[in-house]
Amino acid sequence: MSAYKIEALWDCPFCGTKGNRGRYMHCPRCGSPRGEDVRFYPPEDLSINNAVDESKHHISNGPDWLCAYCGAYNSSDALYCPNCGAEKTVSERNYADLNPTERP
Ligand SMILES: [Zn+2]
Ligand SMILES: [Zn+2]
Repeated sequence: MSAYKIEALWDCPFCGTKGNRGRYMHCPRCGSPRGEDVRFYPPEDLSINNAVDESKHHISNGPDWLCAYCGAYNSSDALYCPNCGAEKTVSERNYADLNPTERP
């Protein structure tokens, strides 16, 4: 069986929607961007059912970076914030820096 990635989930702090998929930068229900307080957690079902199909959804390996302007988390290989257009170079904080205890 080949290795697969499990997609992490997050809860929207604005409208309370739980289990938003990690690929979404915005809450599917209320449209709020993921803030820097958002914590990711694995789904209860760690089977292939929740695996990410990387051929359909590009998943980067680096930590997401936090836009200094709008507070959105962006894929590590995005050079610009898709939310507000700010350059990655001005946003030096990323998820790993903000949540050091969650990454050994
Ligand atoms: Zn929401
Ligand atoms: Zn932004």
